[in-house]
Amino acid sequence: MLMIVDPTRVARRLRVRGVVQGVGFRPFIYRFANSLGLVGWVRNDGGGVEIEIQGSEPILDAFTQCLASEAPPLARVDSIEPEVIPPDHSRKDFTILPSVEGIVATAIGPDVGVCPSCLSELFDPQDRRWRYPFINCTHCGPRYTITRSLPYDRARTSMAAFTQCPSCDAEYRHPGDRRFHAEPNACPECGPQLSLHEPHGVPALARDAVAETLRRLQLGEVVAIKGLGGFHLACDAANGDAVLRLRVRKRRPHKPLALMFANVASVAHWAKVSAAEAATLESPERPIVLLEKLPHFDDTLPGVAPGLDEVGVMLPYTPLHYLLFHEAAGHPTGTAWLDQVQPAIFVMTSANPHGEPLVQGNDEAFERLAEIADVLLMHNRDIVVRCDDSVLRVRADLPSGPGDAAGAGVQFQRRARGFTPLSMPLPADGPAVLAFGAHFKATLCLTREKEAFLSQHIGGLDNPAACTALDEAAEHLQSILSVRPAAVAHDAHPDYYSTRAAFALAEKLDVPLIAVQHHHAHIAAVCAEHCLDGPVLGLAADGVGLGTDGMPWGGELMVVDGAEFRRLGHLSPLPLPGGDRAAREPWRMACGVLHALGRGDEAIERFAAQPNVEQVLGMLVRGTRCPPTTSLGRWFDAATGLLGVCDTMTFEGQAGMVLETLARRFGESLALPGGFHIDKRPPDGLSVLNLYPLLNQLIDENDAARGAAHFHATLIDGLVQWIGDAAHATGLRRVALSGGCMHNRLLATGLRKRLAARGLAVFEAQHVPPGDGGLALGQAWVARALLARGVL
Ligand SMILES: [Zn+2]
Ligand SMILES: [Zn+2]
Ligand SMILES: [Zn+2]
Repeated sequence: MLMIVDPTRVARRLRVRGVVQGVGFRPFIYRFANSLGLVGWVRNDGGGVEIEIQGSEPILDAFTQCLASEAPPLARVDSIEPEVIPPDHSRKDFTILPSVEGIVATAIGPDVGVCPSCLSELFDPQDRRWRYPFINCTHCGPRYTITRSLPYDRARTSMAAFTQCPSCDAEYRHPGDRRFHAEPNACPECGPQLSLHEPHGVPALARDAVAETLRRLQLGEVVAIKGLGGFHLACDAANGDAVLRLRVRKRRPHKPLALMFANVASVAHWAKVSAAEAATLESPERPIVLLEKLPHFDDTLPGVAPGLDEVGVMLPYTPLHYLLFHEAAGHPTGTAWLDQVQPAIFVMTSANPHGEPLVQGNDEAFERLAEIADVLLMHNRDIVVRCDDSVLRVRADLPSGPGDAAGAGVQFQRRARGFTPLSMPLPADGPAVLAFGAHFKATLCLTREKEAFLSQHIGGLDNPAACTALDEAAEHLQSILSVRPAAVAHDAHPDYYSTRAAFALAEKLDVPLIAVQHHHAHIAAVCAEHCLDGPVLGLAADGVGLGTDGMPWGGELMVVDGAEFRRLGHLSPLPLPGGDRAAREPWRMACGVLHALGRGDEAIERFAAQPNVEQVLGMLVRGTRCPPTTSLGRWFDAATGLLGVCDTMTFEGQAGMVLETLARRFGESLALPGGFHIDKRPPDGLSVLNLYPLLNQLIDENDAARGAAHFHATLIDGLVQWIGDAAHATGLRRVALSGGCMHNRLLATGLRKRLAARGLAVFEAQHVPPGDGGLALGQAWVARALLARGVL
C-alpha cells in the first residue's frame, strides 16, 4: 500500500499528571485533537494520561499550550511532560486506546454533585433517564466512593456489577457523546435501582419509592437514605416532633443537624447568604456551609441547631436528593422550579449511630439503623469507601485559594466528600510518609513526591469500629496511590489507637517511626498548607494534646521550624477535677477556677444541681485527681460553667460554641481592664498568659451574653499582647494560628485582624481543619523535615 509521507509532520508523546482520570479527560483530548486535525491516540495508565499526537509543529504547540486551560471542569492538570518521537506516517486518525495497568501514580477525582446537563435530562419526561436516580456523565457523579483501585475504569468500580445496555454502551463508546467513557454510566434499563425497606429489611409496599419516601417524611418519620459515601438520616426539618424523635434515637440532644434545601433562593429565607457563600453552596463539591441564621429561624426550626447562631446547610448533590425535592414540588416538568423558592427542608445528618463510622452496606444498614430509621431508601450500587459530607465556613477575612469561590477564603471544619482524595501541593519533593493523626476527628495523610493526600474524616477513635475504619482507610490510601511509606508518623501520646496502628505498620514495613508532639503538628499543618519554610511563631489554641513534660497541653506559644519546636510559653494551668471527665463537664472546670481563686465555698450553692459537687471540691482541696492543663479549650469551658450557660456538654466543643454564640449576640465589647497578666515562669523563663483575673470578674457577671463578649474580647487582647511580645523578642514576623479553638470565628477573625494591625503576617489552617482533623498533615510535614536531615 502506498504511504504518503508528509515532511511537515512531527510527533510528540505527552505525559499528563494530575486529576485526569474519571473527569472526561480522554474524550476532551479526543475532541480537541480532532478539531485541530491531529492524529494519534490517548490512554489512561498508572501515571495519569498518555497522549501521542502528530501533525504540524505550530498546531502541536497550540494543542500542548491549551491543554491545561481548556481541560474539563473537574480535571486538574499538574504537569505536562513532552517528548519528541519519530512520526508514524501510517497513522490516519485519533483514537482512544484501552487503559494500561502499571505502577499507579495518579490521582482519582472526588465525588461531585449532579451537573446542569444531567439535571435537564432528569426532569425532561421525554428523556430516557427521566427521574432516573443514578443519572451521571463525565462531568458529574460518584468517583472516589465507588472505586476499588486505579486506573479508574468501570471494571474497578462498584459499577462493574452492571452491564451497560446497548443504548448506554453506544454513548459510552461514542467520542462525541457527553457520556463517552463516563465509567458509572447507567440508565433505568441497565443500571442500579432504588428500593424501599422497612427496618430489618422487609421491602416496603410502594409503587414509587421516591413518592413513598416523601410521604413518610411528611408523616414525620425518620428515613435512612443511601447516598454517595454513606447513609443519611433524614426528616422533615419543619416538623419539630420528627426532629426530636431523630435526636432521641440518635442520642444527640443538642448537636447541630445539617439541613438540605432545594436551592440558594430557598436557603435565603432562613439564613444570611453572601455571594461567596452562595457560590460555595452551588459548587460541584457541594459542601455543608455554615451560615448565620436569620432571627426567625429558631421560631420555626428550634430543634435544628439549638443555642447556636449558625446552621450547616447544603444543596442536593445526588439525583436522588433532587428527586425528593421534585416530588415535594409536585412533579414539575423542566428545571425552572430549581430556581424558585421551595418550601421543603430536610434534616440530613450522617447515619453513624453512637459516634461509630458511617453505615456503608445495605445489610449493615438493616442491622445498625433498625432502631433509628422508620424506613430505609436504598439502592444496589455498593459504596466502596465511606465518605462524610464536608463542612466549611466562608470567611471574608481569609485569602481565597485556588478552587475557592471568588472573593472569600474558606476554612474547613471537616474535609471529606467532594475533596477527598484531592491532594495538597507541597513545596518540595520528599519521601513518602504516612501520618496517623491523633484520637479525635482522625484523618490520615500520605505524602507522595510533591503532594500530600489527606484521607476523608474518620472520626473519634473511641470505639472498635472506628479503629477498624482507620486501618481500612490506611490500607485504601496506600493502595489507590500505590505508595509504600518510607516512614510512619504519629502523635506522641502512647495510648492512642492511631499510635498503636502506626507502630504496627512501621514494624510490618520495617521503616522509621516518628512521634510528633501534638501542638508542634498543629502549627506544622499550617506551615505545610502555606508552604512556610523556616521558623514561624505558632499559637496552638487547642483542646488537649500530650506535652513533652507528660502534661496535657493546649494553649501553647511556640517557635516551629520544620522538625524542631521550642515552647515559648503557655496559658496558666487549670485543674482538671476528675481528669478527662472535666473536659465534658464545664461546671467542674468552673469549680477548679473558684477553688484556685479562693472562692471554692461559692461552688456549693452555684452548682447545687450537681450531685457530686462536694466530692469535686474535696478533690481540689486535697489536690488529688486534678491534673493541671494549659488547654485554651478548658478555659472556654470554665468561663461557660461560671456563666451558667452549659454545665455538661453532650457533644465535643459545645461549651465553646455556645459561648461564642452568646458573645456574637451581645455584639462589640471591650476587654476587661486588668483581665490578664503575662508572667515569666521560673526557672525556665517560659511566658505564662494568666487569665484568672478575667474569670474572677466573670464569676460576678449576671448577664451571660455580656460575660461571653467580655471573655472573647479580653482573651483576644491577652493573646495579641502575648504573641506580639514573642514576635518582638524573637524577631519573627510570621504567625501560624491553629488548634481546635481556631474553629471559633470570633477568636480567629479577632486575632487575625489585631495581629495584622501589628504588622505580623498571619496564617491559618484553611483547606484542612485547624482542629485535630488537620493534624496528620502537620505530622507528615515534621516527619519529612526530620528525614531530610538524615537523622533517622
Ligand atoms: Zn452530568
Ligand atoms: Zn442503559
Ligand atoms: Zn489538637
